[in-house]
Amino acid sequence: MIWNDEMECLPRPEMDALQLQRLQSRVRYAYERVPFYRDALNEAGIDPAGISCLADLQCLPFTRKNDFRDHYPFGLLAVPMDDVVRVHGSSGTTGKLTVVAYTQNDIGLWAEVMARTLTCGGVTRRDIVHIGYGYGLFTGGLGVHYGAERVGATVIPMSSGNTARQVMLLRDFGATAICCTPSYALFLAETAQEEGIDMRQSKLRVGFFGAEPWTDAMRREIEERLGIVALDIYGLSEVTGPGVASECTEQCGMHIFEDHFLPEIVDPTTGTPLPYGEWGELVFTTLTKEALPVIRYRTGDISRLVAEPCACGRTTVRMDKICGRSDDMIIVRGVNIFPSQVESVLLRLKGVQPHYVIIADRERGAMDTLEVWVEVSENIFSDQLGDLADLQKGAELALQEVLGISARVKLVEPHRIERSMGKAKRVIDRRDAYRS
Ligand code: ADP
Ligand code: ZN
Repeated sequence: MIWNDEMECLPRPEMDALQLQRLQSRVRYAYERVPFYRDALNEAGIDPAGISCLADLQCLPFTRKNDFRDHYPFGLLAVPMDDVVRVHGSSGTTGKLTVVAYTQNDIGLWAEVMARTLTCGGVTRRDIVHIGYGYGLFTGGLGVHYGAERVGATVIPMSSGNTARQVMLLRDFGATAICCTPSYALFLAETAQEEGIDMRQSKLRVGFFGAEPWTDAMRREIEERLGIVALDIYGLSEVTGPGVASECTEQCGMHIFEDHFLPEIVDPTTGTPLPYGEWGELVFTTLTKEALPVIRYRTGDISRLVAEPCACGRTTVRMDKICGRSDDMIIVRGVNIFPSQVESVLLRLKGVQPHYVIIADRERGAMDTLEVWVEVSENIFSDQLGDLADLQKGAELALQEVLGISARVKLVEPHRIERSMGKAKRVIDRRDAYRS
């Protein structure tokens, strides 16, 4: 089932032509309306009228999160405030929040791409969609909400928090689809178990999880505990919110809604464009947005693009699972480490739970240390101490193998690590204290 066959299955040459035409008009639009873009393009010596092929995109200057912060709150808008019907803010995971805005058409476009996303998982008007993403300035809740309404599904606007009540209502209302962060999905599963509710017996059959990096091992864990198909969905406020890309049930990468969002992968350090298949930083140019057009926005998210056709019939380019966001990457003793690497190791081990935190520290004048705290399963904890020692050793060996440096593993009792209602915080970098 495909929401918009015409766009999602467009033959490549036609998609290229559409993208080029939209790129030309959007760059001109941004140049004429936003002083920031006019200055940036002038400085780079680019005349918007000179864009003649998609490859010309690579000559345009990048836009970064800091540019949003420098023009806080509304300095990058391309329309008068009277035309803005909604304002959102990014979660502020990595600092001051960035403000984004939407015209009525932008809200319509957002509902369209979210309708495509939900349809990727087979959601129709017959479904009941439980939305556990936070409502408010965060784009998650309302973004999914409008898409689910567009599909005609029954929407349960639950927002985040009050987890025991969510579990009860999930069951009582007979939700068939759920949308929340993957870490929150696990928290729901855990809470259900504690309440003696077997979610695998519920009507829930599909989940749309995003807003934070998660591994395939985590996916299997969620699928098993909730008895559902778990799909990865991607988006970010600066580009629109959720609805930039979504997995279909083939689960082999997220289809980018390319008629609206033009993707590139660049080397995160040099900014040089990289070919399909190579890992690097995702960059997006919006092709239709009115209130807040963005040109070559550096997402900080690391992925790669896949062009091969998908068995579902969609022809759009796919992006691989985000292996991390550049702000989440920590460098310990010269080695780059992403939480997803740690997660993939931990979830392979028997006896630990998918709740972990990574702590980088530095004793005064000494080398950096890396510690991974992970919860052990209830039954293991009451078991023999010898088993625990083996488990810890096994975890340390496996981490050393994957990370290339040693990390100390600390097994902690169930529930010791704080649960998150939205985006989980996986990294604590205590070395910051010594930097100043
Ligand atoms: P921020 O977290 O930067 O304050 P947003 O709330 O707009 O702002 O969240 C967007 C970010 O969330 C993305 O840039 C990305 O890092 C992360 N994200 C969103 N969806 C996914 C996903 N499916 N997998 C991994 N990371 C994701
Ligand atoms: Zn597909």
